[in-house]
Amino acid sequence: MLDNQTKVCTKCGVDKLLTEFTKEKTGKLGRRSKCKPCQAKHLAEQAKTKRETTPKNVVKCCNRCGENKGISEFYKGIGKYGRRNTCSTCLQYAEAEIKLTLTPQQKAKKKETQSAWRLANRDTVNAK
Ligand SMILES: [Zn+2]
Ligand SMILES: [Zn+2]
Repeated sequence: MLDNQTKVCTKCGVDKLLTEFTKEKTGKLGRRSKCKPCQAKHLAEQAKTKRETTPKNVVKCCNRCGENKGISEFYKGIGKYGRRNTCSTCLQYAEAEIKLTLTPQQKAKKKETQSAWRLANRDTVNAK
């Protein structure tokens, strides 16, 4: 094989010396079809698209509101695609609700309403 043997890169279309191509047994002239810079670029692009397409475009159904939302709407956690099964919006509502039921004021108010009801319905309750 000649030292100045060249090969056209299938990617950039430039006629380059064989030394510009990575060795590959199955390739034409024992080299890859893409030159080294193109191969590197190709691999980088592949890695990039892989990173970008993994779960960002995935839509997940929230188990609370039942809406299909983008994966970014879900917090990371144990669930499908490594996310929680409840969307962030629902989680915020759920957390707010929990906080609400747990406040002493709310508990006291509930108790008040309950005893007021019992008081108002004492006759009915006692009659049973
Ligand atoms: Zn090239
Ligand atoms: Zn939801």
